[in-house]
Amino acid sequence: MSKTYKIGIIKGDGIGPEIIDEAVKVLDAVSVSMGFNLKYDEFLLGGAAIDATGVPLPDETIQGVKKCDSVLFGAIGGPKWDNLERHLRPESGLLALRKSMGTFANLRPATVYDELVNASSLKPSVVAGVDIMVVRELTGGIYFGQPRELLEDRAYNTMIYTREEVERIAKVAFDIAMKRNKRVCSVDKANVLEVSQFWRETVIKVAADYPEVELTHMYVDNAAMQLIRDPKQFDVILTGNIFGDILSDAASMLSGSIGLLPSASTGKGVGLFEPIHGSAPDIAGQGIANPIATISSASMMLRYALGECEAADKIDDAIKKALHEGYRTGDIGDYDAKEIVTCSEMGDIIADYASR
Ligand code: NAD
Repeated sequence: MSKTYKIGIIKGDGIGPEIIDEAVKVLDAVSVSMGFNLKYDEFLLGGAAIDATGVPLPDETIQGVKKCDSVLFGAIGGPKWDNLERHLRPESGLLALRKSMGTFANLRPATVYDELVNASSLKPSVVAGVDIMVVRELTGGIYFGQPRELLEDRAYNTMIYTREEVERIAKVAFDIAMKRNKRVCSVDKANVLEVSQFWRETVIKVAADYPEVELTHMYVDNAAMQLIRDPKQFDVILTGNIFGDILSDAASMLSGSIGLLPSASTGKGVGLFEPIHGSAPDIAGQGIANPIATISSASMMLRYALGECEAADKIDDAIKKALHEGYRTGDIGDYDAKEIVTCSEMGDIIADYASR
């Protein structure tokens, strides 16, 4: 009997529903051709959840996703909910969901498709062949540290990391490096911050268990510069929550569009797979969003959460073929396009190639 996986689907806000529909289309196509079944269960998060229930993360979502094998997520947020109190905003729902799922490791590949070397704002010679995996700590650091307060005449947050938090994310980075080019660059601000000094010392201790992996350290300001100057020097970048947030967005531009890059948030339990971009309210509802980041996130889900690597390869190859044949959504439309297609047409094309 063929396997059945239960997939939690969170469409979210803005372009979220549009891009998730395309990823599901591709998942359906590949699951049929590979002989496994996917059963979907939909949950609310963010603005859509606020409108329906009054809170950004309803209890049904927290409980429901725990019963899934994996979760595919679009994006949340938008101007409609921007003026709510912080704890009621869509973003708070996402942060709390990640925390409740224990997804402490965020994996963000930054790869440059050969067909799109001209799409990057950097020279083709700088970006051709770039293949970086940013491993970002996701449930600790300054985004979660207590105390935090917004007062009349001052405000503060706390950047805190425990030994356990640093060790477990470092292990994820070293394990991934072992399957890649065996190089980890740990990014911190150890020249200024005690928390970074602690991060560095802890990473060095974890590295002792991975003698084959070369460990280097870089300050975050230098890392931002090096990513733009010579991105090919990096294999795995290991970093904390806020530095990873910023660096992975910078790394995303190497590829030419934020609409191309996937991410995986994993930990001990169910993983959350999502594009790195937001809900893009400026283009929502126009059918022009690039669904590739989300389709690629679905591929990461098959590979890392379900172990369906062959199906994941099929999706990755289908994306490359669609780009190779010259199909482009508007965001990458200026680069060797044969035909500009809509979000839904791009989904159809990739689903078709993935089903063969
Ligand atoms: P964004 O990523 O939504 O958009 C930035 C720019 O990139 C916009 O011009 C947008 O049109 C474009 N873009 C993004 N995804 C695209 C795609 N798939 N195809 C084509 N173009 C795309 O970032 P933002 O504008 O800073 O934030 C918008 C909202 O999204 C905010 O409410 C923010 O809080 C939220 N947000 C959510 C997440 C998430 O859900 N994980 C992440 C970041 C931002």
